Amino acid sequence: MAVKFPLDKFNEVQTPFYYYDIELLEDTLNNINDCTKGLPFHVHYAVKANANDRILRTINAAGLGIDCVSGGEVAAAINAGFDSKKIVFAGVGKTDREISLALDANILCFNVESIPELEAINELAQQKGKIADVAFRINPNVDAHTHKYITTGLSENKFGINLEQLPDVLKLASTLKNINVVGLHFHIGSQITILEPFKVLCDKINALQKEVNEMGFKLKIINVGGGLGVDYENPDKNPIPDFKSYFDIFKNNLILQEGQEVHFELGRAIVAQCGSLITQVTYVKKGTAKQFVITDAGMTDLIRPALYQAHHNIENITATTETTEIYDVVGPICESSDCFGENETLPTTKRGDLLALRTAGAYGEIMASRYNLRDLPTAVYSK
Ligand SMILES: *Cc1c(COP(=O)(O)O)cnc(C)c1O
Repeated sequence: MAVKFPLDKFNEVQTPFYYYDIELLEDTLNNINDCTKGLPFHVHYAVKANANDRILRTINAAGLGIDCVSGGEVAAAINAGFDSKKIVFAGVGKTDREISLALDANILCFNVESIPELEAINELAQQKGKIADVAFRINPNVDAHTHKYITTGLSENKFGINLEQLPDVLKLASTLKNINVVGLHFHIGSQITILEPFKVLCDKINALQKEVNEMGFKLKIINVGGGLGVDYENPDKNPIPDFKSYFDIFKNNLILQEGQEVHFELGRAIVAQCGSLITQVTYVKKGTAKQFVITDAGMTDLIRPALYQAHHNIENITATTETTEIYDVVGPICESSDCFGENETLPTTKRGDLLALRTAGAYGEIMASRYNLRDLPTAVYSK
């Protein structure tokens, strides 16, 4: 199932661009649907990973819902055809305008992260004569383990409501006439490649559910967030994450009550492997101790290496030689952090060759900027 690059198609396109393997995305979505079939599990794609319209339409066609973190994302979701009743809206700093837009669109649920936000939603809903369905984002204090992961579930963190404050928040919510509490929401981090933290999360949720029930609330939705990681080092060996084991963790460990739904917000796991950044080699520069491959893509096209010291596999997809050499692969931007890889072993590379930076479908194109007044990367699709 390795990604095959249609080089003939690439000849006609200005580099750098993102290449999306739509078949792989469809296989990934089918796999998710197979793994959740017959279960009260609903997956909402976290659109912040990639809001490319073709990607959104493919995901919508597979029947998934969508998780937004801004008014712009809510608008993009509606524009791509998503049913507003499949839209959830998260984020610590929703503005009045964004809340209004979401209320007008009649979205499924607001994931609320603070008391002032709850009050703002209540007030705006009241003005519109609407009742807003809300879930509270709770900090479960689950460590997603090791510093490599981007943890968001610890209590000293701008996201969510601390566990200890939940009783007060629920009490307040029950007095607000235009608020309907439908669930609890959790999100413990990103690029989580071991499943243990998700099991710990299930245990925490089970305990918390008891408390919430004792306070007289019944919850329809348990939203466990996203964060499932992908294999950046072996994209062809593991093009589709192990969704079966992931969903089984929740199936086997979450204690669900009558009529309850489990919602998931997966971003990276859905779109990372279907995307590659394709770039042309502008120069090969020989220094005294090193040699550099200078590409026409830079951190403005793919910022993860510069921002998180992330590494994307680099492949020379046009080389015909068997010999290999060691290079630093760098972009053209005037920043030292604009480096895609040090001491990369590549086939002997020359000016004009095409390189693919793999596993770039998530947090790639969407984070592109025009720094240095560069053009934004375009996109090419397998079909
Ligand atoms: C970013 C985010 C996600 C998706 O995270 P991935 O690691 O891409 O799966 C899900 N939920 C919330 C609230 C987020 O902020």
